[in-house]
Amino acid sequence: MFDLVIKSGKVIDPSQNIHEKMDIGITQGKIASLRENIPAEEAREVREVAGKIVVPGLVDLHTHVYWGGTSLGVGAEELGKRSGVTTFIDAGSSGAGNFSGFQKHIIKPSGVQILAFLNISYPGIFCFSQNLMVGELLDLNLASVEEAVKTGQAYPQSIVGIKVRASMPTSGTHGMTSIHLARQAAKELGKPIMVHIGVPPPTVEEVLPLLREGDILTHSFRGIPNQVLQNNGQIIPELREARQRGVIIDIGHGIGSFSFKVARTLLKQNFPPDTISSDIHILGLQGPTYDLPTTMSKFLNLGMDIEEIIRATTWTPAQVIGREKEMGNLKQGRRADIAILEIREGKFKFYDCLGEEMIGEKRISCVLAIKDGRIL
Ligand SMILES: [Zn+2]
Repeated sequence: MFDLVIKSGKVIDPSQNIHEKMDIGITQGKIASLRENIPAEEAREVREVAGKIVVPGLVDLHTHVYWGGTSLGVGAEELGKRSGVTTFIDAGSSGAGNFSGFQKHIIKPSGVQILAFLNISYPGIFCFSQNLMVGELLDLNLASVEEAVKTGQAYPQSIVGIKVRASMPTSGTHGMTSIHLARQAAKELGKPIMVHIGVPPPTVEEVLPLLREGDILTHSFRGIPNQVLQNNGQIIPELREARQRGVIIDIGHGIGSFSFKVARTLLKQNFPPDTISSDIHILGLQGPTYDLPTTMSKFLNLGMDIEEIIRATTWTPAQVIGREKEMGNLKQGRRADIAILEIREGKFKFYDCLGEEMIGEKRISCVLAIKDGRIL
């Protein structure tokens, strides 16, 4: 007897190369069976989802969910319920100075999973609003390798890497030094760094050679300034070399870091992102970010294959943080974290961060989110 059976949906699980109509049986919060037809009599509860897409619970690699503890945080559980994200990876909202509050008040009691890249800056992103922005690394005294390592070691289950925001507004002229410090802390923890780029310094050409296999470049598809394209539209060689080394190319849409034009140019040159993340925060909730399915919809309308979009929001981010045994797939025995999505057809307006409007004919939205077998 299954506790819950998800019936008649089209299952897309890139980790197992599955893309077909199947049923999922869930018992005690785990995936107990994934097969063609599970009779309704074998279930205590059945959800018919014909015409919908059933995928692993979405894993958003770049979010800000330290609600209440930082000014940019959004409520993860509420957002997860409507977007299908069952794992939020916070990208440096908190630093060593306030991580324990994040762990105790947000991560632990949350009904969705939250993991974090710890900011190399001790206070994390401490001043972020419509009217007030002060970068967390403008004073380099705020960056401490020792404190970051101590906190990373204290919370090995929650902290998956080190975040550094290297751009003029966030780190002034200290961007490159900050990356070196983040790298040192990450090395001691044996975890990757996620680097944000923005208005230089530093330039993306300076940043990329510092990244190693497993490190993440976020805001990769941003527009001018600091885009990853040369004037002639060709991809900068540093980016190709980085991908060859195993550097992860992440989106991190946010409110200032995604350009349709750049995305079109990169996709045309067969250079899709490895991971599609929203960089959702308080200022993006009302657009142009909205949520992860909106960012996914943009890629769908730009011509990326649905299976690759699902891969970039489930299996790949799980691998990037080394948690593929916990999430990002629907293998038997794994936690039943599931998103049921639908692709609606019509005329939908989408906006990038430069104000460009794109009319799309498809929109991905979440109809049901399931965490540990429980409907959110
Ligand atoms: Zn961010």
